[in-house]
Amino acid sequence: MSFQTALLEGLAPDGGLYVPETIERWPAGELARLPHRTLTEVAYRALRPYTRGELDASAFEAVVVEALNFPIPVVPVEPGIYALELFHGPTLAFKDVGARTMARLMAALDTGDQALTVLAATSGDTGSAVAHAFHRVPHTRVVVLYPEGRVSPTQEAQLTMFNAEEGNVRAYAVAGSFDDCHRLTREAFGDAALRRRVRLTSANSVNIGRLLPQMVYYFHALAQLGRTFVSPARLLSTDIVVCTPSGNFGNLTAGLMAKRAGLPVARFVAATNANDVVPEYLSSGRFEPRPSVRTIANAMDVGHPSNFERMTWLYDGDVDAMRADVAGTRHQDDEVRATIAKVYETRGYLLDPHSAIAYLGLKSYLAQSGRGAGGLRDDPAAATPLGVFLATAHPAKFGEIVEPIIGRPIQTPAPLAEALARPRHILRIGASLDAVREALGV
Ligand SMILES: *Cc1c(COP(=O)(O)O)cnc(C)c1O
Repeated sequence: MSFQTALLEGLAPDGGLYVPETIERWPAGELARLPHRTLTEVAYRALRPYTRGELDASAFEAVVVEALNFPIPVVPVEPGIYALELFHGPTLAFKDVGARTMARLMAALDTGDQALTVLAATSGDTGSAVAHAFHRVPHTRVVVLYPEGRVSPTQEAQLTMFNAEEGNVRAYAVAGSFDDCHRLTREAFGDAALRRRVRLTSANSVNIGRLLPQMVYYFHALAQLGRTFVSPARLLSTDIVVCTPSGNFGNLTAGLMAKRAGLPVARFVAATNANDVVPEYLSSGRFEPRPSVRTIANAMDVGHPSNFERMTWLYDGDVDAMRADVAGTRHQDDEVRATIAKVYETRGYLLDPHSAIAYLGLKSYLAQSGRGAGGLRDDPAAATPLGVFLATAHPAKFGEIVEPIIGRPIQTPAPLAEALARPRHILRIGASLDAVREALGV
């Protein structure tokens, strides 16, 4: 398949997920120069192998420059522990990175006459990132399905903010769970009659055009560490641990692909909430999807993570090979609340529930592996931990959870204030394919 086909189709005809044929390794010299690269230079370098031959250099450069128009800083939280803040985009969550890049790749590569319809299921953040990413992008339309009553009021405000406009974006509240929304999109994509009438594409983390751009900030994180916080030698010593808070596992999969491309990371930690089928797989070797359970980190409430297929592809189904790269941790809501309070009090750093799980995963992994304070005394370099956790959402997005924990209000960032100020226009539908057809206008 060409990249264009994979991007515009979203899912393969047999319902499978697209993966790159090959993941080229960065030459050592280029990795050594990483600290000298800007975010958009890193993005261009990391993604160029997948678009070469389909998009010319200047069109591709315009895509990354327009998509990544906000900072993704590395921030020290405590000695040896850094946050990669992925929440400075328009919807204040990391999904802006993938969604904005994908929208512009689609606009640049689509040659069809009829407008392209993006159909997306969301457990909270994907949908608003996609809605904002495509808002006013010509020849595109977006239909988002979200589980009614299972997203935060703030997420709902962001999801529905374009419903009242005559624009190209609609979000529907489905009477069901995220897994129902996800099933409905899969059914719609599998419905040949429907697909003859609407040019459907997907924008979930399953779309390769959303997945690949997420490789970028792993390289960008290490570039910043090497530029500002650690020696170049330490950077390339491959003892850095990265923790990704995971739900559908797109973010983690992109990190594992970055490692395959040469990212000098010792190990990834896949941290989950109570929806822990992947940590369970890593310990038992059995993958047993089950219905999702609700937690305070609701963007990670996924019982059957789609990207697990890609993870097993990366390791050829070998659980021990996966274990060499990934450790799993799981964290309950009360532990998450206590961590938000403690890190705020002791470090003055405010975590949202998802980022708190990433912090917890990193800390518990470092402690277990003896890399915490005082560990591995005979190896001084390894005794100082060096870890990055992905801060995937701004705490203000989860104000109703975070504010009572710290006992004070959080200042609302401007993009969120705008969404909250708009009149709420909620469109409710049942959890059936017929209802989805109607929403699509067929
Ligand atoms: C979507 C999301 C996650 C989980 O990412 P996956 O790629 O689905 O594993 C984590 N945190 C936040 C804030 C999210 O929106």
